[in-house]
Amino acid sequence: MYGMLVGTHSEFWAVDDINLTFRKNMKQLTCAQMGGPATCSVVMTGNSADEMIANGMEHLKQAHPDMVVSMNAMSKEAMDKWRADFQVKFDAAPEAAA
Ligand SMILES: [Zn+2]
Repeated sequence: MYGMLVGTHSEFWAVDDINLTFRKNMKQLTCAQMGGPATCSVVMTGNSADEMIANGMEHLKQAHPDMVVSMNAMSKEAMDKWRADFQVKFDAAPEAAA
């Protein structure tokens, strides 16, 4: 009986930890803030810089295919710099509304 209660509590703790981490790390930036067209206010979210970049790329493919072409034309050095700059933006980005 005691073991069963402890087991149940552990599961609750585990779920709480996951939700807390999810809320804490979820950030948002607009397309324009990510380097898209200044007029585009579509909001991108992600739990990590990589996840937000992936979401941003999906949006670029659909809304700004011309920008995908210019990103693909960037040198590796330019991409590395963009990625490093983006990490700074991501760290400073506001948390996404739950
Ligand atoms: Zn956009």
